[in-house]
Amino acid sequence: RSLEETLERLVADVPDFPEPGVGFKDITPLLADHAGFTQVVEALAAPGRDADGNPTVTKVLGMESRGFILGAPAALHLGVGFVPVRKAGKLPRETHAVSYSLEYGEAILEIHTDAVAPGERVLVIDDVLATGGTAAATIELVERCGGIVAGVSVLLELGFLDPRSKLPGTQVHSLLVS
Ligand code: 5GP
Repeated sequence: RSLEETLERLVADVPDFPEPGVGFKDITPLLADHAGFTQVVEALAAPGRDADGNPTVTKVLGMESRGFILGAPAALHLGVGFVPVRKAGKLPRETHAVSYSLEYGEAILEIHTDAVAPGERVLVIDDVLATGGTAAATIELVERCGGIVAGVSVLLELGFLDPRSKLPGTQVHSLLVS
């Protein structure tokens, strides 16, 4: 099956979630399907390889929480380590923190200060790119560590929200744009 077919079949459109008038993309049917999950994890990891198949990054970063589910297997597939980017107050050691605006209010994301070494190249993986705020905050966290974001890889980009305007100069790889 083509990747597009897999995503259209296994990502569910849920109307009026989490609130009326908002549509939610539910990836849990995809996670439950071994062939589909494998195909998608391989495709998300692909921007972290060169033409010979060797990794061009030394870490995959995933954002809480669906970025963990997709990013961790992608890291193992590439043969590199995984770094979690977490919501405020969850990481136990010294962190960098970045606050960013949500539709209502603010949120804070954190990374351990030693999770990415200066000069290290990383691939950022998440499920959905909506406004781009989460990805932009994550890029800032990597830069605070002195690292380099080689690319952002997502399963689905909500193109009508124009997330790329928040990610100037970043290579964005979306498996599907809707
Ligand atoms: P953004 O910061 O780009 O507006 O929102 C992206 C973040 O919110 C991602 O971490 C993503 O997991 C979550 N998100 C926003 N909308 C959806 C959606 O429709 N489906 C899923 N699965 N996640 C969403």
